[in-house]
Amino acid sequence: MVNYKLMEEKRGVVFSTDLMIALIIITVVLGVSADAMDSVGSKIQDYSYANSVDRMAISAADMLIKNPGTPENWEELGNFNGVTPGLSHVNHVNSGLSQKTLSLQKINSLKENYDELMRGRVIPPYHDSSLTICPVDPSMEPITMGEISTSSSDVVVVNRRVLCNFYNTSILVFIDAMKYNSNKSKQKVGGFICPHKDITGNPSHIAVDYKNKKSGWTCYHFRVTQDMLNSKDFYLMTDPVHVTDNSAVWIIDCSENSTEDSHPFSNQPIRVNDVIRACIGNKTTGILWLHVFSSGNSEKAFNTYLAGYPKGTPVEKAKIQYLNPQPCIFIFKMST
Ligand SMILES: [Zn+2]
Repeated sequence: MVNYKLMEEKRGVVFSTDLMIALIIITVVLGVSADAMDSVGSKIQDYSYANSVDRMAISAADMLIKNPGTPENWEELGNFNGVTPGLSHVNHVNSGLSQKTLSLQKINSLKENYDELMRGRVIPPYHDSSLTICPVDPSMEPITMGEISTSSSDVVVVNRRVLCNFYNTSILVFIDAMKYNSNKSKQKVGGFICPHKDITGNPSHIAVDYKNKKSGWTCYHFRVTQDMLNSKDFYLMTDPVHVTDNSAVWIIDCSENSTEDSHPFSNQPIRVNDVIRACIGNKTTGILWLHVFSSGNSEKAFNTYLAGYPKGTPVEKAKIQYLNPQPCIFIFKMST
């Protein structure tokens, strides 16, 4: 009996010590956990804030790149009431081909009114931001707009690859001869019915035929206005630049004033504003013709471009790669 009681008491003592130790451990653990929870909590808060700034910056960059803005022609409007800017080229959006091609006009318009168009429309009003569109080709100057104040400790950066028609060029005529220089192709180089006639009144510019190696002409018409003539430099260019076809010549004229006066290619772009001006005279607009003669030898085939560059573009900057949108890095920065 005694032994039994003693054992019971011993068991009781053991139990309460266990309980006390357990309680101490629990208290310590709870204390430590609370501390840990506090620090985790504040880290989560920091993280989610940073994350939301990240998200804001990413959605702002995507909004600028993927949309032409509202309304689509916002860059042409005098005032920006109700405007949400976007930089995407409208034609490219509609064709669905290249959503990431940006319009130079929209970029320039955003640059001139950056803070007004960005704050409260693309990003929250209390954030600073800046945007740089940097062509991959180092010979072209980057466009930079906006500013982040130096006091901002943290900056979120969003980088995207985009295309931009940086040189604002336009192709008036493209003669794609190389496409037809394989034996598989049965087609002749396409063109229009040229107004040049021989003395009997029959067409004198017979089309070049690469398949049968017959020399001949490729003729395209194009429209030029006085405004275009005053605001652009027109260059006639070939691809490759060096034309190995010694018989190749070109003529630019119009049907009212046609000429047989042909010129050779000169292994560099040829500025043709004077030739075009001589054709259209004082008229506000004129339809002109570009006639290109080639030997029909597929090994010497070359492509021909007639393209407008911004006024004052020197011949060394008149490059074929500028006729297509150029790859650029879009760098958007936003303060946190
Ligand atoms: Zn012709």
